[in-house]
Amino acid sequence: MLQEKTRGLGMAAAGVPGEGKRPHAARPFLFISDLHLSEAIPRTVAAFEHFIRVSADQADSVFILGDLFEYWIGDDMLVEPFVARMAALMHTLSERGIALYIMHGNRDFLMGKRFMKAAGAIWLPDPIAITAFGTRIALAHGDALCTDDRGYQFFRKFARNRLAQVLFLAWPFRGRRALAERMRRKSEAGRERPVALNPAKYDVTAKGVAALFRRARANTIIHGHTHRPARHQEPGGTRWVLPDWELDHGTPRGGYLRVDAEGFRMLPLD
Ligand code: MN
Repeated sequence: MLQEKTRGLGMAAAGVPGEGKRPHAARPFLFISDLHLSEAIPRTVAAFEHFIRVSADQADSVFILGDLFEYWIGDDMLVEPFVARMAALMHTLSERGIALYIMHGNRDFLMGKRFMKAAGAIWLPDPIAITAFGTRIALAHGDALCTDDRGYQFFRKFARNRLAQVLFLAWPFRGRRALAERMRRKSEAGRERPVALNPAKYDVTAKGVAALFRRARANTIIHGHTHRPARHQEPGGTRWVLPDWELDHGTPRGGYLRVDAEGFRMLPLD
């Protein structure tokens, strides 16, 4: 099940523009997730713009491990000026010789080829194993590791079903938009209480984590989704949890993981 298209630094197989020559193989890999971008959070959007233009400028590769957007109802969202602007912004990475890899999250799993092309991005399956600076790392969004949330795992299976996706995408754009807005409002209203009552149910499980270490034959995992940034020492190795980004509501938060010859470092937004 676990795919390894991008083994090692030899991600050339995935067709990264400018890949193969790799004059800057010592440059860092940067990992982010859970930005939940939408027009409703302009400060968070501005932080992402700064990250792409400035923070990522000396990077070898940028990995977005899911939930870049608050929701994704089909690549026809590219007709929206905001979405087109975000895609154009990300496309500047490949123009600067910086590879961009995007994994689906539980909110934007309908992002397709058209969007990837517009953003100059390579789609990554979830999970996937890579090797960076000699460390074998399993990358995942994180939702599949929350194996105690049975209701969600059932929904996930259904939502990733190709036929269900084709039927959904055949709907008129406005219908899909209305449904996405309704689901978003419902999850905002209904999520906080159950999470407060039973936080463990909505976190990754030891079982899910151990299985990923084993399947990936990796001693490091990087994932997001839970919005609980941390560095955990697990029986199978080290597990890095990426922070979500939120600069418009509540306590400002965000950040990224930098991997280079000196190791792993969780950094705040600059
Ligand atoms: Mn998520």
